[in-house]
Amino acid sequence: MGSMQHQKRNFRGAIGAILISSVFSGLLAQPKLVVQVVVDQMRAEYLIRFNDQFAKDGGFRMLLDSGFSYANTHYNYVPTYTGPGHASISTGTTPKYHGIVANDWLDSRSNYEMYCAEDTTVEPIGTVERSSKRSPKNLRALTFSDGIKLHTNKLGKSFGVSVKDRGAIFPAGHFADGAYWLDGGLHFVTSSYYEDELPGYIEKYNSREKAMLLMKKGWKLEMAARKYTNSIEDENPFEPKYNEGSSSFPYNLEAMVQLKGLSMLKNTPIGNELVLDMAELILDQEDLGQDEFTDFLGVSFSSPDYAGHTWGVRSREVHDMYLKLDAQLGQLIRRLDKKVGKGNYILYLTADHGGSENPNHLADGGYNIRNYANADVIAQLNDHIVNELDVPLNYEYAVAKIINHHIYLNDWATPYATEIAKIVEQMDPFVHVYTADEIRRPGAEALAQKLHQGYQGRFSGDLVFQLQPNAIFYGPYGSTHGTGYTYDTHVPFLMMGYGVEAGKSFKKVHITDVVDIVAERGGLPYAPNSAVE
Ligand SMILES: [Zn+2]
Repeated sequence: MGSMQHQKRNFRGAIGAILISSVFSGLLAQPKLVVQVVVDQMRAEYLIRFNDQFAKDGGFRMLLDSGFSYANTHYNYVPTYTGPGHASISTGTTPKYHGIVANDWLDSRSNYEMYCAEDTTVEPIGTVERSSKRSPKNLRALTFSDGIKLHTNKLGKSFGVSVKDRGAIFPAGHFADGAYWLDGGLHFVTSSYYEDELPGYIEKYNSREKAMLLMKKGWKLEMAARKYTNSIEDENPFEPKYNEGSSSFPYNLEAMVQLKGLSMLKNTPIGNELVLDMAELILDQEDLGQDEFTDFLGVSFSSPDYAGHTWGVRSREVHDMYLKLDAQLGQLIRRLDKKVGKGNYILYLTADHGGSENPNHLADGGYNIRNYANADVIAQLNDHIVNELDVPLNYEYAVAKIINHHIYLNDWATPYATEIAKIVEQMDPFVHVYTADEIRRPGAEALAQKLHQGYQGRFSGDLVFQLQPNAIFYGPYGSTHGTGYTYDTHVPFLMMGYGVEAGKSFKKVHITDVVDIVAERGGLPYAPNSAVE
């Protein structure tokens, strides 16, 4: 696959050059480049909370002021996680059809625990880590970028870049020319699905060890500390003490790495900085947006998700990261203006999911809620099921695993799924527990319909559930996501550039509509498999 694609790319360069000079002149019928920006774990609420603090030349400011905003954009399925989120944005359809039902799932035929972007048939490239055996193999639908590839007869190019492999792979699609993500050593890597070796410019970038240079500088606040009034006190009991015994700025990142390992740098603005560098490098080195064959670039910023998980959605760390991301996005837009030209590209920004409050922070204010540990919940469920279920005792417990809001039962227990669902529903922190049959029922309530859109029988659990509002399966620090509540479903959808006038709408938009709305503005074909329902 790899070497064949390289040949195709070289061939493309040759005929592209001939066509540009003869055919292309005057008004563009289509944008030269489509840039899809996904911010991992970005609540739409951040655009309201941090609005006054975005810089005049910042990316969020430019998108909000000169772009178009759909302020009421929501996920229309559960569970809301990174793999399904990127797959749904990029294909314009739900997990029910594209098959990425969670970040990890159990395959009912093989009982194998699959990671969403895993592909054991490919080799890691640029790293020895087996965890880079990755491709879009599990994605069963075509992406918007695949549609653009088909539309240009593959003369347009498609690339993806992210800290996380799944954030790079799903947006770039099946016909991608390249997808790059960070390995454990914070170098950009890929797999043999795309090519047999790393491009020279990426190897050169990796050898500069920029993460190490940035680490030495530490993490300092963007503004004076007194201006961070929209986030909670810097030192608080809902954040881990990773900064030499404290959770306050400025961060000594070398000390934090000694304590927690190198991958902790992915949780800081450094992750976004590296992804920005790589987006700019790909833009230049792959000559994106330089001819009339529309190219696609997917950029996914994963660090806001790591920061949200670590410190929480109300933390000063997350607040500061968004101010820095505003500046980083501004830099990307200026680079695009210079390289591709204002109005010659269309850029849109959304998120793969939102994020919950830290429940212990809410409880501290008097609200009756707390966090739950997955293993404890499984143990309690199993004890309770043994007591309540009127069947002979079995040597195995009923619940095998809970992954991404799906309950997988051991084989003996699956005939009792309906009874077990009723038992579990009586317990904290569950409000609704459904069997597969219930969510598939015609005319099912709105929540069941959302669960149905997130479901595929072969991969999904025997039971799916909705938690009580604000309850999370997570540690005491930070935030997580996965539910069908507004805090997880409500995400930004901003766009600017080719075909986009300034404006704002509060019309409800589903995440699966995003790429088709962009296609309409850009005069491009709808995503091939979008909006099935
Ligand atoms: Zn996450």
